[in-house]
Amino acid sequence: RAKEKGKNNYQLFNSEMKSVSLKRLTLESELRRALANNELLLHYQPQINIATGRIVGFEALVRWQHPERGLVAPGEFIPFAEDSGLIVPIGEWALKEACRQNKQWQDAGLEVVPVSVNLSIRQFMQHQLCARIGRTLRETGLAPGLLELEITESCTMDVDYASDLLHELKKLGVKISIDDFGTGYSSLSYLKKFPIDKLKIDRSFVRDIMTDPNDAAIVASIIAMTRHLNMEVIAEGVETEEQLRFLHDNQCHLIQGFYLSPPLAVPDAECLMKLYSAQAAAGEESPPLN
Ligand code: C2E
Ligand code: MG
Ligand code: MG
Ligand code: MG
Repeated sequence: RAKEKGKNNYQLFNSEMKSVSLKRLTLESELRRALANNELLLHYQPQINIATGRIVGFEALVRWQHPERGLVAPGEFIPFAEDSGLIVPIGEWALKEACRQNKQWQDAGLEVVPVSVNLSIRQFMQHQLCARIGRTLRETGLAPGLLELEITESCTMDVDYASDLLHELKKLGVKISIDDFGTGYSSLSYLKKFPIDKLKIDRSFVRDIMTDPNDAAIVASIIAMTRHLNMEVIAEGVETEEQLRFLHDNQCHLIQGFYLSPPLAVPDAECLMKLYSAQAAAGEESPPLN
């Protein structure tokens, strides 16, 4: 009986494995098609300075307009794209599209605000990344100062490689931020060795600031540390007025989160920019908090 049961388990395991690898295979060919057929698009989430009430940037976030499944969120295909290596062409596409869009907004007379693009560690490790980014900037005509690259702590593990590359990128004139700060396994010593402009406090810390004193202490400490290190700091995943108030009281003025705005499709992002510049022109800077 035990043998029979074992056999059944084996068969079950085997057929599950098959369906998982079949799913991967399908996803891989579908993603390749998506790239070739322009099924990928970017949404833009505004980053707001709550002390001035101005938009200070947009983060470009990839979406997949799937012919049958509708709009697919990156959580459903980015991890797979990382494993398969498809993240490299997808990331290159996202970088170029974000630069192109930002330049087009400028040419149309909209507000001039930097755009942030997420870099996967696979891209970070790619041969001649800096030259590639330089070429993309030249091709799209975007000023390097308007591009911010978001890397994660995993990119800082190989200290010598990361230090050289980040200094090279800074020479190009782009800005560097650390995404999901506090969730990686890296040591803090890289913060003094690398030219980093901004830390993005991960939303897992922000989520419970009002209820978990440990999270509140961690967030307050990250903010204080950035002040001493002369870096900028932005809080991700702000969903409530109370969280916004806490961050403001702790001197973190840059906010990204659903409380202010979700990631927006291009026309909605354009409306938002017009709204903000109309407000500024009318002199009603009306910061939400003072
Ligand atoms: P991320 O870079 O940390 O981006 C922030 C994510 O948090 C976005 O999810 C955004 O929609 C979400 N978010 C923003 N505010 C809130 C909030 O108040 N509450 C909650 N619950 N969530 C909020 P999204 O767009 O689903 O992207 C997920 C992740 O996929 C990104 O996390 C990033 O790691 C990755 N990703 C997206 N686009 C790209 C890309 O072009 N290249 C690479 N390499 N990764 C990308
Ligand atoms: Mg990001
Ligand atoms: Mg993040
Ligand atoms: Mg992330």
